[in-house]
Amino acid sequence: MQQNNYLQLNNLVKDFHDGRGNVVRAVDNISLSISKGEFVTLLGPSGCGKTTTLRMVAGFEVQTAGDIILNDKKINNVPAFDRNMPMVFQSYALFPHLTIFENIAYGLRIRKMPKDTIRNDVAMAAQMVNLVGLENRYPGELSGGQQQRVALARALVLKPEIILFDEPLSNLDAKLRIQTRTEIKRVQQLLGITALYVTHDQSEALSISDTIVIMHNGKIVQSGSPEDIYNHPADPFVSDFIGNANFFEGKITELDKSFVTVSLLGSEVRIPTANAQEGLNTGDEVMLAIKPEAVEVQPDTGQFTGKIEVSSFLGATTEYKVEYSDGFLTAIHPNTHGEVHNFRFGQDVHFSFKTDFFKVYKR
Ligand code: ATP
Repeated sequence: MQQNNYLQLNNLVKDFHDGRGNVVRAVDNISLSISKGEFVTLLGPSGCGKTTTLRMVAGFEVQTAGDIILNDKKINNVPAFDRNMPMVFQSYALFPHLTIFENIAYGLRIRKMPKDTIRNDVAMAAQMVNLVGLENRYPGELSGGQQQRVALARALVLKPEIILFDEPLSNLDAKLRIQTRTEIKRVQQLLGITALYVTHDQSEALSISDTIVIMHNGKIVQSGSPEDIYNHPADPFVSDFIGNANFFEGKITELDKSFVTVSLLGSEVRIPTANAQEGLNTGDEVMLAIKPEAVEVQPDTGQFTGKIEVSSFLGATTEYKVEYSDGFLTAIHPNTHGEVHNFRFGQDVHFSFKTDFFKVYKR
């Protein structure tokens, strides 16, 4: 059964003092409501306050203001140890002198659980994350991916309601990152555990989350499903961060219920009004954002002209950096069967936009 408001952050603030008398507001009045079993990811650039938020939930940092509420109970003053919200770290944080078995068993031994329970629960956790057979090794004898699975097993063995993840995949190579994130998601769904996950990697967040919370300068700028955030970024920051959008300056020449017409690069484009920020008027200077996959490069037709600056074949797609009158833009084309685009460096090309995909923001 899904329970809304299982974990609530209400107006959380965290100030740090930097030793020279300055106050750094790392987290600036954020509120968030997480359902039981939900996978929520805090996503944002370095320094936006996501780790500090996670550490307050864990009880490693004390909030300056606001409340953390779990199951309708304020847990502001509950020590980390009693919150039963284990954290999986980027560095794995395993004990090098203990075997894998003992690393997984550690939390249970501290809780003075009976030996049989420990043996059974460790075996179950090891099986859950595919570590069977490695229990007698030491962390130094495992790969990075295996070590991170030990860290996950060590959290799971505590049968927590919530697991906190602090950039758990950052130390793994690209392939292992994908394997391990799939593993985390599988186990989380299987057990119905609530997850609060921190990353600065947009594709990781898109692939693993039920809900993405985008943070910037200590504040939440948007939260929603991955599809929602990807397709309807609320402002230019989110457009850039989640979709690597191209930006153009333009001016609204006409606006009605259905379409907004914007002058762009000496021409005009018509964009559904639903894609425009509210409160815009004819004559307003605007910022247009469009994702690389909505830019079409063609050899000899298209509204605008440019020149190929870089052409990168990426397998499933080819990415082009195109120089045009006002700068550079990025276009991504899918390489469907038998149709590989291969514009060359220096080639003169035309390009146009799938205008339905433009977002229009106030400038
Ligand atoms: P990263 O991805 O780099 O870890 P983040 O989004 O997790 O970044 P935080 O680590 O939460 O960001 O830091 C938010 C802000 O708070 C930053 O400006 C950081 O310098 C500051 N900060 C964090 N911890 C402290 C501290 N102990 N003392 C002073 N300032 C701090």
